[in-house]
Amino acid sequence: MLCNACGANIPDNSTFCTTCGAKTVPMPQNSVVPPAPAPNAPQYMGGTMQTYNGYNAPAPMAPPAPMYQSFQDTTPISPLGYIGYNILFNLPFIGLIVALVYAFGSNQNVNVRNYARSVLIIWLIVVVMYVLLFILLAAMGASMSEIFKNSY
Ligand SMILES: [Zn+2]
Repeated sequence: MLCNACGANIPDNSTFCTTCGAKTVPMPQNSVVPPAPAPNAPQYMGGTMQTYNGYNAPAPMAPPAPMYQSFQDTTPISPLGYIGYNILFNLPFIGLIVALVYAFGSNQNVNVRNYARSVLIIWLIVVVMYVLLFILLAAMGASMSEIFKNSY
């Protein structure tokens, strides 16, 4: 008989191939069915192991992201909560500090943090606008005084 694995000539009664050591008796039945899936499975495995080896690095990085998200408190803010935070963040001086703590502090609710950041961004825009307005008015005032100086 011939070995199913390597095709070597082996004794008919032998259960293992003398050349490669593969099982010969159960193999004819098992090897017909499994070899079809078996070569496929190794190919998939080999494909992922070899060609996707470079991509396996990002793949493990995907799980950390969900784990990171599981750490975050994503409890939604209730409408009353929004009102409360709005009042809190708009308190003079204290509100700015509270908003900064909420915006950049760790272990904070994601929604509260994002809301605090949005408040800070709006304030930043307002401050920049005021600074630009001040510069513009100062420049206008300077040019006006120049005009008046020249007129006298
Ligand atoms: Zn063999």
